[in-house]
Amino acid sequence: MRIVLVGPPGAGKGTQAAFLAKNLSIPHISTGDLFRANISQGTELGKSAKSYMDAGELVPDSVTIGMAKDRMEQPDAANGFLLDGFPRNLSQAEALDEILKAAGLSLDAVLDLEVEEDEVVKRIAGRRTCRNDSAHVFHVTYAPPKTADVCDHCGGELYQRGDDSEATVRNRLAVYHAETEPIIDYYKAQGLVSTIPALGEVADVTRRAMDALK
Ligand code: ADP
Ligand code: ADP
Ligand code: ADP
Repeated sequence: MRIVLVGPPGAGKGTQAAFLAKNLSIPHISTGDLFRANISQGTELGKSAKSYMDAGELVPDSVTIGMAKDRMEQPDAANGFLLDGFPRNLSQAEALDEILKAAGLSLDAVLDLEVEEDEVVKRIAGRRTCRNDSAHVFHVTYAPPKTADVCDHCGGELYQRGDDSEATVRNRLAVYHAETEPIIDYYKAQGLVSTIPALGEVADVTRRAMDALK
């Protein structure tokens, strides 16, 4: 299956993607995680993305689309993938359609994680991310690590992402409403969207998402 996960920052996309990708045996492709890995490795791509991420702005399409395309063309993605955080604006959505069409493929579903803004702000404020792998995510109260500030998965140090600061979060939410939300209508016109209420237990949200894919 080829699936797109959308929702505001902090909605739980990364958390759900980890479970869904495992259940469906497809790779979880997060453009945010790819950018952060490039930044920690000091690549040119990471250098060109960093200032945009720190400000809570979108990284330019000229950088983002090529990176996403390269990842989707890896052998492990040949039979499907779960996209988390891409596309994030209409031109990325159109580019994705073109990339898939050129390969004779199409999307199967778009899952829209719906969470009210107050809850999203709480989730982001308490989020702690592993320095070794930004797909390893915890929350100080909702999903605390067994040992404070230590990743349960790999023993890495947990930290608060710079762009999870209150000032940047406000801008990220504004960017989400202005640039990302329009892709939901774009995909609704293609009949692809399932809206998933994303409040409550992680496992319950996963179940709702799996039911929507049946
Ligand atoms: P969250 O899920 O909390 O919104 P992500 O890890 O998905 O955070 O993204 C972090 C940052 O990486 C974004 O604020 C943006 O700067 C950049 N980014 C991630 N994906 C994209 C994308 N598809 N287009 C442009 N920028 C992106
Ligand atoms: P996104 O990728 O959409 O930005 P994350 O998956 O990183 O969101 O989740 C944001 C924060 O909220 C993390 O700290 C995560 O542990 C927490 N979280 C995710 N899902 C839930 C949930 N259902 N209930 C409570 N907290 C959650
Ligand atoms: P188990 O080990 O029983 O499979 P987990 O350790 O995955 O369970 O999760 C224990 C509880 O924490 C569950 O209620 C789950 O929904 C919740 N949970 C797991 N991961 C997160 C997360 N990233 N954010 C918020 N809650 C989480």
